[in-house]
This record gives sequence, structure tokens and C-alpha cells, in this order.
Amino acid sequence: MPESKPNVLVVEDDKNISDFLAAILTSNGYGVMCASEGKKAISMTADNRFDVILLDLGLPDLDGIKVLKSIREWSNLPIIVVSAREDELEKVEALDAGADDYVTKPFGNNELLARIRTTMRVHRRAFGDEAEAEPRYSADGLNVDYERRRITKHGASIHLTPIEYKIVVLLSQSAGKVLTRDYIITRVWGEHYDGDDQILRVNMANIRRKLEDNPADPRYILTEVGVGYRMIEEGAE
Ligand code: CA
Repeated sequence: MPESKPNVLVVEDDKNISDFLAAILTSNGYGVMCASEGKKAISMTADNRFDVILLDLGLPDLDGIKVLKSIREWSNLPIIVVSAREDELEKVEALDAGADDYVTKPFGNNELLARIRTTMRVHRRAFGDEAEAEPRYSADGLNVDYERRRITKHGASIHLTPIEYKIVVLLSQSAGKVLTRDYIITRVWGEHYDGDDQILRVNMANIRRKLEDNPADPRYILTEVGVGYRMIEEGAE
């Protein structure tokens, strides 16, 4: 079945980078439009139907975070922030402002394309009409069966506390996408939890002890330093 070509808006003021991104995306079957300024990006988003926005945060006229917040006032379309720096606070700020994920320059083509595919899929699952309510998550021998509330690894049951289970379900349902520590804490312990994130670290250490072959070198739930956690994509080997 021929799929309609996903359209990407590349928001980037560095012409070399935006040409480069446009070339990669076009050769991988995406439709591409480019904007070199924040205001232009906002008006183009209002006038077109994009499937994903790649948003550079350092723009000449308007801070990328402002562009993000402005678009989020009326649209939930997937936005991947392209960050120039290993700046964790900036990434957290972008994610809190509604970005779906980020890539850090310099990034490889495969990483970028994988991030775009994942973001679109997680988004479809959350907002799409296809309502892909998967009954389970499965990757590299690990299975989470949401209906039976059962987790197995290579067929053997893994026993988690209710809180640990909630964390794993949350991460697995957004597998491939980074979730910030604040987001996880709010979803698991509720909006009114006002403690620090030590509670999450403790639970994550316990989850890894039960799930991972080597908790010090995890392969199912990865740490995004200073930001949060990312569970590996379904079907990953
Ligand atoms: Ca820039």
C-alpha cells in the first residue's frame, strides 16, 4: 500500500545544515520545506500540514523555545529539537515546553531518521485515528503484557512492585522516546508530589536490578544524562 509522503518542516538558519538535512530527508522519501526564521516557521506551520518539525533552537529572530511554545498553543504535531550543544537544561526546557524529542549536533543520518520515525509512531499512537493500542511491548527478549500486567524476560516472570511496573509501562508505551524525570514523576506519583527525584532513581535502580543482565550497563532502559530515561524501541535486538 503506497503511503503518502510524510512532510517535514526544517527550521534552521544555517543554510549548510538545512541543505544537508533537506538532502537526507528527500532521498529517504520525505517531503521537505525549510524556514530560516522562527516567525516564518510559525506561519508556515499554520498554513501547511506537516508530519514533523525539526527545530533548531538558535534562530536569528526568535528563540526556538518561543517558536515551540507558540506552535504548541494550537498544535500537537511532532516536534524534534535540534540542539547544538550538550546542554541538558536546554533539552529539558524544550521537552517541558512540548518538544517530543531532540537530537544533538553532530548527529548521524541514521540516528536522525530513526528519531523521526519513532516520534511519528509514538505520536500516532497517542493522537492518531488508527488508535494503535498495542496489548504488549516486546524487545530483545523482554515482554510487557499490559492486559495481564505481566513482565517476562526470555519467558521467565519478572516481579515488580506496582510503582516499578507503572514506570516500565510508561516508558515502554513511549519506547524510543526520551521521557524527562519530571514527566515520569508526575505521571507515576501525581502532580502534587513535591519531593526530589531521588525516589525515581531508587525505583529505577531496583527495576534495572530485576530487568537488566548488567544493571551498570543497561540495554532496555537507557539513561539520558541530565534529562531522563529512554526505553529501547520495540523489536530491537
Ligand atoms: Ca542556528
